[in-house]
Amino acid sequence: MKKSITPNQIKQNNRSLIYHYIYKNKKVSQQDISYDLRLSRPTVTTNLTALEENGLIHKDGQIDTEYVGRKASAYSIVPDYRISIGVEILEKEIKMIAIDLYGEQISHMVSAINFAYNEAYFKTLCSTILEFKDSLKIKDPQILGIGFAVQGLVSPDKQTIVYGKILSCTGLSITEFSQYLPFPCCFIHDADSAAISELWVSPELTDAFYLSLSRHLGAAIISQGQILSGKHGHNSTIEHIQMQPDGAACYCGRKGCMETLLSMTSLLTDNEDAEDFFKNVRQKEPASLERWNTFLNHLASSINMLHLVYDTDFILGEYLAQYLRMQDLDFLHEQIQQMTPFSEAHDFLLISKMPKHNIAIGAALPYIQAFLNDSVI
Ligand SMILES: [Zn+2]
Repeated sequence: MKKSITPNQIKQNNRSLIYHYIYKNKKVSQQDISYDLRLSRPTVTTNLTALEENGLIHKDGQIDTEYVGRKASAYSIVPDYRISIGVEILEKEIKMIAIDLYGEQISHMVSAINFAYNEAYFKTLCSTILEFKDSLKIKDPQILGIGFAVQGLVSPDKQTIVYGKILSCTGLSITEFSQYLPFPCCFIHDADSAAISELWVSPELTDAFYLSLSRHLGAAIISQGQILSGKHGHNSTIEHIQMQPDGAACYCGRKGCMETLLSMTSLLTDNEDAEDFFKNVRQKEPASLERWNTFLNHLASSINMLHLVYDTDFILGEYLAQYLRMQDLDFLHEQIQQMTPFSEAHDFLLISKMPKHNIAIGAALPYIQAFLNDSVI
């Protein structure tokens, strides 16, 4: 059968093109749109009127335009036309963040709630999220969904925790939350959400190994701009690669996993503050410096091994990223140089561009991305 495009599809396509043009360029005139998209003025006018009437865009002052040589009305998208909420579930607290269509933070809140796999916790968590939602002063239809970042592996349909030993939440279903929340909900592995937010702030990033260096170790493989989940959902679970057969006990039940060498829990002593530890390291306090160098040595041998498997950039991210300095990267490069059979370029270790709120933001972003990719805007 001969394929043909209907006038309605062309109209829809033009509207979507115009919306995305305004989204990308932030503040534009009708003339800019018409010229750059090669669309007639009446077509642009009709679509701008429709987009404005539907609340997707608004007039945003005036700007100079090179095409008519005088000021013209400027148009911008309405960033909170739709929003998304990300919730990071941790053992002793939850972190919530609301973001707009640019991924910008609208509001952020931390609430001390101890995780428990029971009805009381599910209810408390959801009522806290609803209180947070009410504080945003937005209407329910504006909310695209709520992403829950968890320290665990998630089923491909994002509805179930398939491995959650840190919080003892294996088998947890999203319905435990969604029954109390009138919005789409899904789970996301916390290392994946951190990598998603890294991708968001680095549009040029296509391939990388993202290391989530936080209280626990995690990782995500970014390939062609996507997070690889793997055949059974446990891709890049490097934290359980055994490095020392007689090493310290890991929460997975085995010994000497990478987790036991490269998590912040393994780096810091009980109740030690990361801020204090790194202050001591930078002041070259011998005991702290020795502990840090040992950690970096383990990190170097782990990266070297992974780099031999996947020759790509390595992004050192999450909580530890804020404390890393160029001298640490130089040290890692030197160590790796001694371990690898190849002459390594000094260019594949990078510090995360987004160490703050990245997990909660990354949990919220997929709803924003889905909205923006929806051609029916
Ligand atoms: Zn393990």
